[in-house]
Amino acid sequence: MHSSNGRRMTCPRCGTPMEHWVEIEISNGGKQIKYYYKCPRCSYRVNDLVLSIKRQNGAIVVTKEEYKTPMRSRVGNIKRVNKNE
Ligand SMILES: [Zn+2]
Repeated sequence: MHSSNGRRMTCPRCGTPMEHWVEIEISNGGKQIKYYYKCPRCSYRVNDLVLSIKRQNGAIVVTKEEYKTPMRSRVGNIKRVNKNE
């Protein structure tokens, strides 16, 4: 199958198609909605999007965090290069 819809994701660990999950966390004064992919086989998790909804001085503030790179990028891929020439 070659149909690509952007919502499809396979587990980088074991190759199983991942499931899309939504988790809503309510803490005092705010709400956090987390969208993520989870592997049904090995429980590997990749964050997709996090929305934070907070009340600030009577106004509702929505913060959006997007995870464009899968979490595996944090394993050894972050490198800081300083070029002093
Ligand atoms: Zn997996």
